Amino acid sequence: MADMAADVLVIGAGLHGLSTALHLARRGVKVTVLEADYAGRHASGVNAGGVRTLGRHLAEIPLALASRELWHNLPELLGDDAGFVPSGQLKLAENEAELEQCRARMAELQANGFTHEVTIDRDEVFELLPTVAPHVVGGIWVADDGYAVPYRVVTAVRRTAQRLGVVLHEQTPALSVTQRGSGWQVDTPKGRFEAEHLVVTAGAWAGRLAAEVGEPVPTYPQGLMLMVTHRVAPFCKQVLGATGRALSFKQFDNGTVVIGGKLIGDLDFDARHGEVDIVRLITSAQTVTDLFPHLKHLGINRAWSGIEAFIEDDLPVISQSRHASNLTYSFGYCGSGFQMSLGTGERVAQLVLGEDSPINLDAFAIDRFQPLSSTSPN
Ligand SMILES: Cc1cc2nc3c(=O)[nH]c(=O)nc-3n(C[C@H](O)[C@H](O)[C@H](O)COP(=O)(O)OP(=O)(O)OC[C@H]3O[C@@H](n4cnc5c(N)ncnc54)[C@H](O)[C@@H]3O)c2cc1C
Repeated sequence: MADMAADVLVIGAGLHGLSTALHLARRGVKVTVLEADYAGRHASGVNAGGVRTLGRHLAEIPLALASRELWHNLPELLGDDAGFVPSGQLKLAENEAELEQCRARMAELQANGFTHEVTIDRDEVFELLPTVAPHVVGGIWVADDGYAVPYRVVTAVRRTAQRLGVVLHEQTPALSVTQRGSGWQVDTPKGRFEAEHLVVTAGAWAGRLAAEVGEPVPTYPQGLMLMVTHRVAPFCKQVLGATGRALSFKQFDNGTVVIGGKLIGDLDFDARHGEVDIVRLITSAQTVTDLFPHLKHLGINRAWSGIEAFIEDDLPVISQSRHASNLTYSFGYCGSGFQMSLGTGERVAQLVLGEDSPINLDAFAIDRFQPLSSTSPN
């Protein structure tokens, strides 16, 4: 019979749950992870694989930079590079007004002490990317960003966590969570699990669990789409974005090109299923052929949609509960949580262990949505 007791129970085996479990297990904590489907089935396993500090909200930058350290040292963390390619990321400006936006962004970053993004001019863009359309006038460049293959990363993190003793139960949805004394009980179709601490990393479904504990968050799910092309001769080493329109773009070593950029598809949330909307995919294809006219006749091989958790203010919740003891949340990564997962897992492990985080997490508090009147003592 399965061991139903642990020090920490984690709900959700996406990358945030697995990374948290891994960092806890490295500290000798006994962790059990419950997963409704299978590890990496949702956003973590099907995303675009962009490892991007570029363009982040100011509040997220310290976490993203801390994660970046781990991406560049994956063999140390996972015994495997998990396919990470430090290709650099480039956000293109297609006209003077967009270049001005890039300069304004740089001024804002510098005023806050960040130097990881740099503006580059037209000549520097063409040096990096000789085949881009001639109307491009410059951009923002981050040399230490890159990309990885999502499911390979999920597998490497899961296997390392399991080697360190983490127990993973797939096909085991948490149906209800209940606090008993200081600890937690989680009921599933496979029985009742118990632990002193509970961590909720349930992605797009985490809001329901937080609401059950009395901590509503304005979270909503969306189906994000990606498409992958047939193979084409190598022409682009970097991951690309655009300043004036949504774009995420990269060419893999095998010649295929993955195209996305917060493209919203249709969603059947209760069925846990995202559906591709071909008409909306065409907008992204148009952006790509504007930037690379030689791709005009390149065929699309496959398209898919994954379910992602969004929050009204576009920032995740990374926070201890304000209502209950020994409960920690990490969810709502708004389309950019793949890069953040490795470092954030370490911060969440610190929250669970009651340690001070070296990174200020105030912007991610779960009670930030409550009107002042309900948080003030009077
Ligand atoms: C198409 C697409 C492209 C993206 N591209 C990028 C990118 O290029 N770069 C980037 O940084 N980010 C990207 N993202 C975002 C990134 O993938 C997510 O932010 C990140 O993977 C979220 O991880 P998570 O662990 O919080 O959630 P998830 O991966 O969704 O994991 C949550 C898990 O919890 C499980 N679960 C839910 N409820 C329960 C329950 N009651 N009991 C047990 N288990 C439960 C779910 O089954 C799921 O497996 C993209 C996302 C999508 C969808």
